[in-house]
Amino acid sequence: MANRDKATNQLLDYKKSIGDAATTITTSSGEPIGIKDAVLTVGPRGPLLFEDFHFLDELAHFDRERIPERVVHAKGAGAFGYFEVTHDITKYCAAKVFAGVNKRTPIAVRFSTVGGESGSADTVRDPRGFAVKFYTEEGIWDLVGNNTPIFFIRDPTLFPSFIHTQKRNPQTHLKDPDMFWDFFALRPEATHQFAILFSDRGIPDGFRHMNGYGSNTFKMINSSNVPVYCKFHHITDQGIRNLDPKRAAELASSDPDYSTRDLFNAIAEGKFPSWTMYIQVMTFEQAKTYKYNPFDVTKIWPHEDFPLIPVGKLVLNRNPKNYFAEVEQIAFAPSHMPPGIEPSPDKMLQGRLFYGDTQRYRLGVNYLQLPVNCPYRVAVKNYQRDGRMCFTDNQDGAPNYYPNSFGGPQESLRARNLRERFSVTGDVDRYRSGDEDNFSQVTNFWLNVLSCQERRRLVENIAASLINANPTIQVKALSNFTQVHPDLGAQLTRALKLLSSTKM
Ligand code: NDP
Repeated sequence: MANRDKATNQLLDYKKSIGDAATTITTSSGEPIGIKDAVLTVGPRGPLLFEDFHFLDELAHFDRERIPERVVHAKGAGAFGYFEVTHDITKYCAAKVFAGVNKRTPIAVRFSTVGGESGSADTVRDPRGFAVKFYTEEGIWDLVGNNTPIFFIRDPTLFPSFIHTQKRNPQTHLKDPDMFWDFFALRPEATHQFAILFSDRGIPDGFRHMNGYGSNTFKMINSSNVPVYCKFHHITDQGIRNLDPKRAAELASSDPDYSTRDLFNAIAEGKFPSWTMYIQVMTFEQAKTYKYNPFDVTKIWPHEDFPLIPVGKLVLNRNPKNYFAEVEQIAFAPSHMPPGIEPSPDKMLQGRLFYGDTQRYRLGVNYLQLPVNCPYRVAVKNYQRDGRMCFTDNQDGAPNYYPNSFGGPQESLRARNLRERFSVTGDVDRYRSGDEDNFSQVTNFWLNVLSCQERRRLVENIAASLINANPTIQVKALSNFTQVHPDLGAQLTRALKLLSSTKM
């Protein structure tokens, strides 16, 4: 048999795993079904009877199989494993997940593309989602990042507009190069992320060969309540590997689920992918005077100023048992942070703290009761009750109001003490940030990170996409790239001219 990999053999392996055990088909209410391959009819040629509950039960459920697709990150793959602490960082953080070298915490990870729909190809040029769920003994920690250390915008109010430009034109229902490049042209703070997106790392070779980043700036608090700001990095132990655009385009038609298959097969074959987690730490004093705004997610913290500090390993060693239950229904929310980890003033992170709302819409108000989402290492005790699809004991007869005299759950002293108390001053206003330093780090990326060949490929990749936008937008986009470096602007102008002459 040709090309029979572990993913292709899934059903054969399933059959082997259950042996000869015979099971009976039932309706959804558990009633055994005697004949499965014929509807109930009047005589052999029909018509059908409305009393055929077996048929209606199946059809009604089938009609409702799909839940709302994620607006972003719809196409993805997931796996399970553990996080193990290898280096003590308790001087920075008192979260239990970091309490002691060798400590292991179960994790789930979902990788994804961003702009495409749930059936879209894995090998497109797009950021990759890299979302990690830690099932800690103090509740869920969702570290919801990407494979890039930065993001396109720094003010979350632009997020819906930005995403619209990455998706489909409202009339044509087509991806629209004018929308895509117009936004970039008008919002130069996106230049850094565009530079990374159009570099070689814009099309990773599957999910195993890319890094993950928390991207936003977070706060950590130690047991003496001393806070620091921090960034998270997950550096791939498999090494960085990217696809060249031609190969990626071939795969998009010959094996559109390439990354999903690669992850499944690697884990099924026992080649468990892993990432080394590092943090960067900035003190509050450093943050006050640092040359870059530490809360601007369009910028990195240079390694030279804030070296990577090793923390632990993320290892994925189990494939989902069922894709829908464990990957489609997995729900991340950046607001899920256990004591010891807190948001920083990073505006994009603050905006993302509302993310749980999309899960309430997609899965319902009780989405945290689903097995893959539930903080199963903690007994959830609170004053929330009821809501659609409550499928736990709904906290039995415990009082549903606070305060109460009847033994309801009480405040946690640890959570009360382990938090940063901070004062905030400033005039309430809407502060535009589009004109803040948008280019200096991109200049550094162009001059000092990329090799000569990588610069050439960056220019080719940008030109191949920008050529599809209308000429006015091209001019504005070129102006942003020229501000990164005149060479980048000049090389792009030449590449665009060449492409338009060959297109004529
Ligand atoms: P460093 O020289 O210390 O680090 C450069 C980083 O760039 C390395 O992490 C390297 O990853 C990564 N890199 C190399 N090629 C690419 C690429 N095509 N796309 C994205 N990342 C790449 O410099 P700085 O810390 O001063 O950062 C300089 C620039 O490097 C930043 O402006 C940013 O564009 C990029 N970068 C920085 C990161 C950071 O957190 N400081 C993280 C990732 C990128 P590797 O070590 O795996 O080769």
